[in-house]
Amino acid sequence: MFNFSSHDRMDEYTVTCLFRSDTVSDEKKFWQIREMTQTCEIAVVGAGPVGGTLALALAARGRKVLLVDKADLKPMEHPDFDGRAYAIAHGCQALLQEAGLWERLPFSPCPILDIDVTDSKPGRPPSRLMLHFDHKAVGDDPFGWIIEARSVRVALNAALAESSVIVRAPAKALVSCKADVATVQVEDELFKAKLVVAAEGRQSPLRAQAGIGVTRLPYNQTAVIFAIAHKVPHNNVALEHFLPSGPFAVLPMTGTAEHPNLSAIVFTESDANAKLLYNMDDTGLMRAVEARLGDRLGQLELCGQRWLYPLYAMYAARYYDTRLALAGDAAHGVHPIAGQGLNLGLRDAAALLDLAGAAEDPGVDAVLRAYQAKQRPINLAMLLGMDALDRLFSTNFPPVRLARDLGLAAVERMPRLKQRFMLAAMGR
Ligand SMILES: Cc1cc2nc3c(=O)[nH]c(=O)nc-3n(C[C@H](O)[C@H](O)[C@H](O)COP(=O)(O)OP(=O)(O)OC[C@H]3O[C@@H](n4cnc5c(N)ncnc54)[C@H](O)[C@@H]3O)c2cc1C
Repeated sequence: MFNFSSHDRMDEYTVTCLFRSDTVSDEKKFWQIREMTQTCEIAVVGAGPVGGTLALALAARGRKVLLVDKADLKPMEHPDFDGRAYAIAHGCQALLQEAGLWERLPFSPCPILDIDVTDSKPGRPPSRLMLHFDHKAVGDDPFGWIIEARSVRVALNAALAESSVIVRAPAKALVSCKADVATVQVEDELFKAKLVVAAEGRQSPLRAQAGIGVTRLPYNQTAVIFAIAHKVPHNNVALEHFLPSGPFAVLPMTGTAEHPNLSAIVFTESDANAKLLYNMDDTGLMRAVEARLGDRLGQLELCGQRWLYPLYAMYAARYYDTRLALAGDAAHGVHPIAGQGLNLGLRDAAALLDLAGAAEDPGVDAVLRAYQAKQRPINLAMLLGMDALDRLFSTNFPPVRLARDLGLAAVERMPRLKQRFMLAAMGR
């Protein structure tokens, strides 16, 4: 298989490949292996939003990078609006810019200017005791943006096509890490690398291969994700509405010509209820949304597809092994209650960029240890925070409800504490 990108420079790499020898007779058609090895500095396995962004940012800093994904990247662009979106914290914008992704996003990100946090009982609209966060309390910048998932994929594919990153997808990577070097066999090519980054998502085969254990915290909750068009504008306000069955989030999206007012819904419910919602007809589903939202956004209409995500939190026992680093969902998974999962992964990528991206040998233990020391405690704290938040709000026990409501009302009157929450939400 030959699939050099236009940016592969043959003078810089020697190539290992199977080639079909023209000198061999037709009867004896066979493949011969020519022993030559390509050298890259860092191999990233997994071209999702974390691996793709990291590969691009490393290449922009002049490192030679190989990026392998088991899936074909093109169809992942999803040409039609599909209703999935990420909340990107303000602090992650710089990395997306450095990777050349921000300016390539085909649909403009929707700024989050205000956040409302409320709670309620099942079937009732938000209570009046609510927390309101206004971005103006901490400056002019928005808290973050809601970006369509397909928009990120389109930008990643466009940036990769123009970068020096060697992309192999769809392809399988066989990785072997030794003290002095890692080898990555991709189909019939062999690459030597100083560091391999596993960014393959939650199931990470490289994490398993390295014998790194994971702890999983089941939630017995499933998220139903979809987008809605609505009559009343969202005014860039995100709503986090806590219910005993799980949080219900409404995230402002950039409208389209057909639907000028759009929002993404993350509807968390018990596994059984989520399946019921997922299988409801459109009218029934919109009625279920109205029951939680009230008339805040006026008349509603379902847009695009529905997606079902069983939820569990997880964390890896270590973030590194010999010449191997875990990043993104391969290292941790948090409850989507505050839309922080990808943000944590992008912060892993930023840390690797600074530590490994600047090191002469990016795969030595000292670099990987520093990476783990920087990211693992922050990510664990976030995981525990999201977990506590979910447990605190997932109860209908009256004393806890009362304390919770009083807590919301009390925090609402504490501008300093609110400011700290706001800066944390922005990733500062
Ligand atoms: C319901 C829900 C809502 C969410 N909302 C938000 C949000 O609003 N904001 C936010 O920040 N986060 C959110 N998240 C989390 C976010 O989706 C993930 O954290 C993010 O996708 C992780 O990116 P990643 O690149 O690490 O992994 P993935 O997105 O899982 O990408 C992994 C990549 O690796 C490839 N791969 C897998 N196995 C292999 C292999 N063996 N070899 C090669 N390639 C392989 C895959 O094809 C894929 O391209 C949400 C998650 C859920 C479940």
